[in-house]
Parts: sequence; structure tokens; C-alpha cells
Amino acid sequence: MIAANNPRLKTWIEVPENSDFPIQNIPFGIIKPAGKEPRPATRIGDTVIDLSTLTDFGYFDELDIDNYGVFLAPVLNDFMALGAPIWSAVRNRLSELFNIDNTELQNNEGAMANCLCGINDVEMMLPVEVGDYTDFYSSIEHATNVGIMFRDPENALLPNWKHIPVGYHGRSSSIVVSGTEIHRPMGQTKGDDMKAPSFGPSRLVDFELETAFITGKSSKLGEHVSIEETDDYIFGMVLFNDLSARDIQKWEYVPLGPFLSKSFGSVISPWIVTMEALQPFMVEGPKQEPAVLPYLEFTGKKNIDINLEVSLSPEDGDDTIICNSNFKFMYWNMNQQLAHHTINGCNINIGDMYGSGTISGPTPDSYGSMLELSWKGTKPIKLSDGSERKFIQDNDTITMRGHAQNSNYRIGFGECVTKILPAK
Ligand code: CA
Repeated sequence: MIAANNPRLKTWIEVPENSDFPIQNIPFGIIKPAGKEPRPATRIGDTVIDLSTLTDFGYFDELDIDNYGVFLAPVLNDFMALGAPIWSAVRNRLSELFNIDNTELQNNEGAMANCLCGINDVEMMLPVEVGDYTDFYSSIEHATNVGIMFRDPENALLPNWKHIPVGYHGRSSSIVVSGTEIHRPMGQTKGDDMKAPSFGPSRLVDFELETAFITGKSSKLGEHVSIEETDDYIFGMVLFNDLSARDIQKWEYVPLGPFLSKSFGSVISPWIVTMEALQPFMVEGPKQEPAVLPYLEFTGKKNIDINLEVSLSPEDGDDTIICNSNFKFMYWNMNQQLAHHTINGCNINIGDMYGSGTISGPTPDSYGSMLELSWKGTKPIKLSDGSERKFIQDNDTITMRGHAQNSNYRIGFGECVTKILPAK
């Protein structure tokens, strides 16, 4: 067992009941304390721990890291570049420092005052500089629902779907951190009954409930990352709201796929939960039938049991939970996605991000987009204030939450929050 995952570990930091961040999590993020530069941090309960000051006080000295500057950087890319053994060593060292029996830090008042502060005293920043962003389409329920709505209910999945983890190259410049407000996009749309397209604010803004993984290791152009090697490349995961303008998408996507309908803002949760922390929650995925080609064959459990939830709140209104899904439903796993991504020799870089695709489950309350929940606008969703939604309205806030839970503890992601503002 990974030392930091020991369910018996207790911490001297207060952890509220059902916190996403027990001592067994130790995620990585970038905080900006008031009046200071952004720097790497972790979180236990509602306390954030500044890794740059822990370094200053010498708490990482024994780790023998080549470049301690990584703990002063405004993004985690250089830290990830140190490699998987160092990610693991730092997480284990943090687990040790905050163990209830360890007095190294808790008895050092000067260090305590500098290294720890409340989550509400910092601003959360984008944790990595995202180089390239790829979005997959790996939920069989989502792909089937979209196929039924837009094509042919008898042949909802296209012939390639069960053979290829379908994906497209997205836009990284508009990936932003939770809490960033996004304006409704302007664009071209054309209704079926219209002769020519018109221009104006999108009327069908939607969320897509996704997770994303981030690579912490690069590969060379021309190389493949074999499926056995993929675990070494994946640093961790975040929640991901891949905002979509369905009316713009419908008009523009032929024949090359989505373009401006997906690039007006894509929002991630601020804490990267490591693959090590998620390791106790690995489960079998759905049976893949027909058998996949050999380069996509994998061994072991590669899906993860992560409960996912989406809520919507109107301006000054209460939250209504509109979707409960789970990452374990994904047909294609992250290892297959990465092996497929590099099979043509495409190189990947540290900080690249890969969206899972909308994560829909088998039941109508588990669909991961408004498009599916309201079935193309034919079944409006009731909110707790009595109002109805087919798609997202101006000043609505979408909140995604996710956590894995066993009888010992919960490993969570916190929140991914997005407010949609009127078009500019
Ligand atoms: Ca997507």
C-alpha cells in the first residue's frame, strides 16, 4: 500500500466531516495568498499548505530534489517534470508532516504561521499551464444518446465508436479555473426552418460534465506510449466543465467537428487529485465488445468509482441537483485514450490536458449535459424555485462536484463552479 493512502492515518489539522480533503488526499494546486505571488500548495480539510514556505523552512530537504525552484513556480509544470517518483515522495512527505504523531511542524510556530492558512484566505489559480488540450467522447451512454437524438435511433453509435477512443484537438487558451465567469458566446446559428444563418447570442448554452487528466511526462515525436507505460504519464485528474453552445455546434460542426461552440471557456476544478490518491477506488470498466485491437488491450482495473454531481442555481437562488453520474461508466479508460493518442507518433507534453468526454450514466438522471437531461429541450428540468430549464440561462451558476468514497474515507475534487453571464 502507498504510505499516504493508509486509512488509519489521522492528521493534527482539523478536517470537517465529509471533507473532500482528508490527509489521504494531498492534492496539488496553485494558490495566491493576498499580496503574494502564486505558488504550489496542497490542502487538508479547509487548510491550505504553502509548499514554497515549507521548502524555505527545509521540510523537503531530505527528498533530495534537483530543483527546489519548482515550489516557487506559478504553475505545477516544473514540479510534474521531476517525475512520478518525486510526485510520490512529496505526497508521502506531506502525509508524514501532517500526521497527528509528527511534531516537526506543529511545534514550530514560526513555520506554522507562514505555511498554513484558510482556504478562504487565498485565491485559487489555474494549476498548470495547459499546452495542448484534447477532448474525448468516451461515454457509451452519452454517444448513444446523442446518436439517437441527432441521427438514427437504430444505429446510434457510428461504426468506429467501439474500435477507437474518438476525440478531437481542442483549444487550451480558454481553459480557466473554477470561479471564472463566462459570457454567453455570440455566433452563427441556423435553425432547420431558416434559409440562411443568423448571428447573435447562442440560445442553447450547455455544460458537459467531464473529468480531465493531466500528463506529467512528455514523449518524443514519433514514439508511441504503450498502454503499459501510460500510468507513468498521468499525474492526476480534475473536474471539467466543457461548456458548449449547441446551436452554434449544430451549424458549424460539419465536416470537421466542433470549433467555436466549444472554445468560449472550459472550466476545471483547482486541485489536481493524484492517481495515487485515487488508486484505492479503481474498478472494472464495462466489457468492451467487440474486442479492441491489441494496442488498446489493457490489464487490471482502469476505471475509477468517482461519484459526480451537477447542480444549477439561478442568480440568488438555491442549488438544485440536476445530475448524478459516475466516472466508472466510461467505456474507454484514460490509459486507452493516451495509448491511442500517441499511436501515430504524436508527442505529448507536460501539462497537456485530456477531457473524458461527457460522462453520462445509464439512467435519465445521470445524463451529463442539459442536451440529454432535457432531451433536446423536449423535457424541461424543474428547479427548486419552480422555474424550468431546457438549457443554461444568463446568470445561472453550474457547480460540479466529485468524490470517491469507501468505508474508510472520501477522496474528493472540491468544486468546479461556472457562472454564465449575458453575451457581450
Ligand atoms: Ca466535451
